[in-house]
Amino acid sequence: MIRWDAHACLPLHPQASFAPIDQLHAAGVDYVSINVGMDMNPVSQIMSVMAGYRATLSAHPDRYRLVNSVADIERARVAGQMAVGFDLEGAMPLLDQPDMVALFASLGVRQIHFAYNRNNRVADGCHDVPRGLTALGRRMVEAVNTAGLLMDCAHTGRQCSLEIMAASTKPVIFSHANPLALVEHGRNITDEQIRACAATGGVVCVSGVSLFLGNDAPTAQDVARHAAYVADLVGVQHVGIGLDIGFAEAALDDTPPGEFDATYWWPPSAGYTHAIAGVRYTPPRTWRELERALQATGMSVEDATRVMGGNMMRVAQQVWPGQPV
Ligand SMILES: [Zn+2]
Repeated sequence: MIRWDAHACLPLHPQASFAPIDQLHAAGVDYVSINVGMDMNPVSQIMSVMAGYRATLSAHPDRYRLVNSVADIERARVAGQMAVGFDLEGAMPLLDQPDMVALFASLGVRQIHFAYNRNNRVADGCHDVPRGLTALGRRMVEAVNTAGLLMDCAHTGRQCSLEIMAASTKPVIFSHANPLALVEHGRNITDEQIRACAATGGVVCVSGVSLFLGNDAPTAQDVARHAAYVADLVGVQHVGIGLDIGFAEAALDDTPPGEFDATYWWPPSAGYTHAIAGVRYTPPRTWRELERALQATGMSVEDATRVMGGNMMRVAQQVWPGQPV
C-alpha cells in the first residue's frame, strides 16, 4: 500500500534541508507533494526554489525520486526512495499564460490550485470577495486537464471552486482542506463543495493544521475525525490526507522579496491572529498513528488504506501522464 501526503511545505529557499522529507518517509509516507510557491511568491523566487529542490533530489538518488506517474511511485517504493512531486499554490506564477502550466509540469509540478486565499485574475481566494472563475480561469482549467496535473481547489473561493469542479474534465481534489460542518473557518469547505468534489471522482485530503481542525494541539485523532466526516458524507473512496506540515528553518528567511504584507494573505479577520505563525501542525509521526485512529472511527483496515493513499493513487492514475521524468 502507498501512503500519500498531498501537501507539505519546506522553507521556500533553494538551500532548504530535506531532513523533514526524510522524517515523513521514516513515518511511512511513500509520496509527498511539496509546495514550491504561492501567489505571494514572485516567479523568480519559485524558479530558484525549484532549481534548489531539484538539485537536492538529484544529489541523493538513493533517497528521493521526482515522479510524474503512479508507476514512478511504485518504483520509488521498491527502491526504498521517497517519491516526490511539486505543487503550486496559486495561479499568479502562471503569468496569465495557460502554456505555463505545461512548463511547470516539465519541471516537476504535479498539482495546482488557482488562488491563495485572495482573488487574482484567474480565480477567487477563500478569504476574498466572491466573483467566480474568470474566462482566463476556464482556459487555465483546460490547460491543467491537458497537461495532466491534479486540479486542486484548496484555498479557493467557494463558488469559484464549484465552477472549477464543473469545468474540469478530470477528477478534482482538495489537497488540504477540512469540513466546515466540523470547524467554522473560511478555509474549510462546505458539504456542497465536498459533494461536488466527489462527483468529479476526486478526493478531499484532510489537513492537520490546528486552525482548521479546531484543536490548538492537533492529533491523529482530530485528522481521523474530519476524514470520517467526509467519508460519511460522500463515501470513503473520496477521502485522503494532506497534513500540510510547514517545516521552518530558523536560519533560512523565505519571505517574498520586497514589500510583503502578511495580513493581506492571512487576514486577521479570518482568524489568523499572528499570520501563519499562529498555527500549529501535526508532527510527521502522525502518519504512524493514523491507521489506528482511522480504524477507531469505524473504518475497516481496507478503508483506512484507501484514505491514507489508495484513493489519491486512483486519482493520479486517471490524471497524470505516464511518461517517466
Ligand atoms: Zn496551503
